Amino acid sequence: MKLLVAFVLLCALVPGFTSAPGEPIVATHYITNVLITMHLYDTKAELQSDLEVDGVKGYSECEINEEENIAYCDIYSVRPTHIDDDATTTVGHEVLHGVFGLYHGL
Ligand SMILES: [Zn+2]
Repeated sequence: MKLLVAFVLLCALVPGFTSAPGEPIVATHYITNVLITMHLYDTKAELQSDLEVDGVKGYSECEINEEENIAYCDIYSVRPTHIDDDATTTVGHEVLHGVFGLYHGL
């Protein structure tokens, strides 16, 4: 099996620091196949403790293979409990890193 990892993308979602809600998405790549391993926590404190980052509410690490059009992503978030709650939005934010890359800059 041929596996060419073009790069590894990391994003720790820290509100007001690593994202700007409402700003346009600027894709750094476009991948349509994303294989996700979810890491869900019951509380934000447990997530932050495990990641050892204060203020973080989501994290993703993706291996991107543009030639094969696939991203392998590990996504870390608080477990969503209500439709379209903050955790749901966070999971969506992190999934889009597999699809669009570092779409909001640093
Ligand atoms: Zn992000």
